[in-house]
Amino acid sequence: MNILGIESTAHTFGVGVVKDGEVLSNERDTYMPKQGGIIPYEAATHHYSLAPGLIKSALQKAGVYLKDIDLFAFSQGPGLLPCLKAGFQITRFLSNKFGKKMVGVNHCIAHIEIARKSTKLPDPVMLYVSGGNTQVVTYSKGRYIIFGETQDIGIGNLIDKIGRRIGIPFPAGPRIEQLAKSGKNYIKLPYAIKGMDVSFSGMETAITRAIPNHRSEDLCFSLQETSFAMLIEASERAMAYCKKESLVITGGVAANDRLNEMGAIMCKERGAKFVRMDRSLSGDNGAMIAYTGYLMKDYKQKDLTPKPSYRTDTVEIKYR
Ligand code: AMP
Ligand code: MG
Repeated sequence: MNILGIESTAHTFGVGVVKDGEVLSNERDTYMPKQGGIIPYEAATHHYSLAPGLIKSALQKAGVYLKDIDLFAFSQGPGLLPCLKAGFQITRFLSNKFGKKMVGVNHCIAHIEIARKSTKLPDPVMLYVSGGNTQVVTYSKGRYIIFGETQDIGIGNLIDKIGRRIGIPFPAGPRIEQLAKSGKNYIKLPYAIKGMDVSFSGMETAITRAIPNHRSEDLCFSLQETSFAMLIEASERAMAYCKKESLVITGGVAANDRLNEMGAIMCKERGAKFVRMDRSLSGDNGAMIAYTGYLMKDYKQKDLTPKPSYRTDTVEIKYR
């Protein structure tokens, strides 16, 4: 069974082809705002204009034709509405034209499922860290339960906001990571874990106030050390509470070496397993949508409209 998956929730338009659960191709392109943050309609325009070329190259790399696709999957949410609409309309067009079923995939669950598949960890705690989302997720009785999450902004959003204020364009993560490697002096920042949840807005204010008096390297170093420690603490609590023996980090921020290092150290100390994800599958991509579409191939969905606030824990998991 061939599945074509389309990812379009925010900055990235991705197209992946999966055959019987194996990834054949994974093409993508990321919209870069000229200045400031993502402008949703500009990102959607990016997605519409790049869609034909990316679909073509994903099919060519997979060695299949559109007529051979048995199921079209798209990212139904959460995300920015204009971007979600782009993915939905393109998928509906293909589904109608070729008379094949379409399936709406929860974007967060797609990150989780491709993490489980690519790391071969059957039942890990998952730390899902991206621009808009920050969640500690575990599986329990037919759902992915959100054990802890951000009460305000996503960790990637924090990184991108601070980046913008010190002159680094979106996405700031890779450059912040480089600067942090040369940081020497730790600046004390608010460490905010509330119950199982985390909060980053106080840290954002504190770093913004500290900018005039500190080197960027030290600011980035302190940002990473503090926010990542919070995330790893929440993940460890989830592992202890839910008696899970492994951890995987997924989402765009999972590309960060220091975050993975902290995750690996924590797991080693508690005798648990940690497997690092390949970054081609941890950031937003179409293959994760196609793969999750494959898992959901027998779902009968009544509502396929885009859902900007689609929660991870509202999806019934019938294939596990
Ligand atoms: P996603 O929405 O899952 O594609 O994630 C995008 C986010 O990942 C953006 O906020 C980026 O700044 C962030 N990001 C990308 N690479 C890194 C990195 N090496 N370290 C930290 N954050 C990163
Ligand atoms: Mg994402």
